[in-house]
Parts: sequence; structure tokens; C-alpha cells
Amino acid sequence: MEITSETQPQEKVSSEVPAAEKQRWTLNDFDIGKPLGRGKFGHVYLAREKKSNHIVAIKVLFKIQLRQSQFENQLRREIEIQSHLHHPNILRLYGYFYDHKRAYLILEYAAKGELYKELQKCKFFSEKRAATYVASLARALIYCHGKHVIHRDIKPENLLIGPQGELKIADFGWSVHTFNRRRTMCGTLDYLSPEMIESIEHDASVDIWSLGVLCYEFLYGVSPFEAKEHSDTCRRILQVDLKFPTKPIVSSAAKDLISQMLMKDSCQRLPLHKLLEHPWIIQNAEPCGIYKDLCKG
Ligand code: ATP
Ligand code: MG
Repeated sequence: MEITSETQPQEKVSSEVPAAEKQRWTLNDFDIGKPLGRGKFGHVYLAREKKSNHIVAIKVLFKIQLRQSQFENQLRREIEIQSHLHHPNILRLYGYFYDHKRAYLILEYAAKGELYKELQKCKFFSEKRAATYVASLARALIYCHGKHVIHRDIKPENLLIGPQGELKIADFGWSVHTFNRRRTMCGTLDYLSPEMIESIEHDASVDIWSLGVLCYEFLYGVSPFEAKEHSDTCRRILQVDLKFPTKPIVSSAAKDLISQMLMKDSCQRLPLHKLLEHPWIIQNAEPCGIYKDLCKG
């Protein structure tokens, strides 16, 4: 990663990882523990900040791999955006540092791991659990959109679960900070909105579409526009070929909410603050956003 003079390492000023003096982080500040997982560009480890004993996750990225895949700018954007977002349902990025080979991100530790794995274990979630997660995500996205940040890559792989069972949006690699409508093509196919497939202008309402896809996947265990070929997925998305299977049984209120989010015309999609007032959310979501009973398996 090339770090220019404008992007210097963050100083030790985080309130959660206290260290009053204005020094910069180094690897010596941490005891490194067990590996938590592997990403495309490196590994994630459990770590403890020595002075405060604060437990964090450290993501180690190899500069050479970032450079070869031209992901340096994406990482810079991820750092810039995520470090300014402070919300209970958004994974905190406390800071970062680097040496000659690697870049290190200091992240909030999500003790209960990946949502994706939970969904695989359970196959699909109960309406209570799905609604709790959808409401938490809506609140986090309202916060992001209020700061002119569009996530653009909401999917189960990018969601982690915190120690209380609360959801945390974890990956801001594709997000943008924008006051304008965007035209860039990005994200994973299944969650892409029609306007992103058509590469026309898009705005924060792409996140409402993805949340609709996610809500469907929580309740049915499969994403709504899945197909063997990419071209078929695109066609199904563009036609909004939305079908609700008969099993598992899902309430008509949930189907109504999904249909209102998966509208082809982005202006017609249910705004997120209205989503929070939808009867299915009111009846099912845990008010504190905490869902304790994880799947067994
Ligand atoms: P990439 O983001 O590079 O596309 P990825 O999402 O698979 O890849 P990472 O985000 O680097 O990978 O994380 C790898 C794995 O490490 C995750 O799937 C998760 O299991 C674990 N992990 C990452 N960050 C944390 C964290 N803050 N707390 C707990 N576990 C984490
Ligand atoms: Mg990731």
C-alpha cells in the first residue's frame, strides 16, 4: 500500500482503546492471539492492546498483494470511511499502521463470528431473528446515508455478530462517500440492484434493494434471484422476477415488506425510516437489536 503524505497513520486517540499520548500504533503495542480467519489479502488475528488490555481484531494485509490487485485505493477508502463511522451495528475501525511489508487494521472484535456461518447452520432464520437483523441494518444504513456513505455491498459475508448477538456491518471495501449519484459498477451479483446492473446512476437506495435481498435470504435461506448463469441472475434482477417459495412458511407481512424494498424503480423503494415502522418489523424485531439464541450445529 502506498501511503501518501495525506494519509498518515491514525494517532492513538480512540476512546475505546485508550492511550492518551499522541503516538502512533506499532505491532509492539499488541499481544497477538489466535487467528480468526483469512481474507483475500491476509489474515485476521485476535489481539490485546497491552496498555488497556482491550481485545481487538487485527487484520494484516500484504502490501504486495494489494498492489498487484490494485486494491490500494479501495483499502484507503475503506479506512477513511469506516474510521469515521460510530454506530452499534457498524464494526469499529480504531486505527491502522503499517511496516514495509504489511498494513494492519485495528478492528472491533466481533466475538460471535460470521453471520454467513450462522445462516448456513440454521438454513434460514425465524421471523423474529430476521426482523431484528433487518431493523438493525436499517438503523445502521440510515446512519451511513446521513453521512453520505453508501455501502453498496450488503450481504451475509460482510456481517459479523458481536458479543451480545448484535449485528455488525464489517466490510466497507465497496462503499463510497458521496454527495453525487454514482455510476461505478461494483458489488456481488446476487445483491446488485437493477440500476447497478444497467450501470446507470445510482444512489443510497441501492442499499434498500440489497437489504430486501438479504431479508429474503434470511427467511428462505436462498437469495431471490439466484441462477446458475450470471446472465440469468441479471435477467431475473432486471425483470424483478421475485417468487416466494411455499416452504419455509413466511408471513404475508414479511413478503409485503420484501416486495416494497425490491422495487425496480429506486424512488418507489420503501425508505428505511418507513421500514422501521412496518408492521412486520414492529411485531417481530427485538427493540434493542439483540438476538441471543444462536443456531446449534
Ligand atoms: P475480504 O474482506 O478480503 O474480501 P473476507 O471478508 O473473507 O475477505 P476478512 O474480512 O479479511 O475476510 O476476514 C476474514 C475472516 O476473519 C472473516 O470471515 C471472519 O471470520 C474473521 N474476522 C474478520 N474480522 C473480524 C472481527 N473484527 N472479529 C471477529 N472475526 C473477524
Ligand atoms: Mg471481508
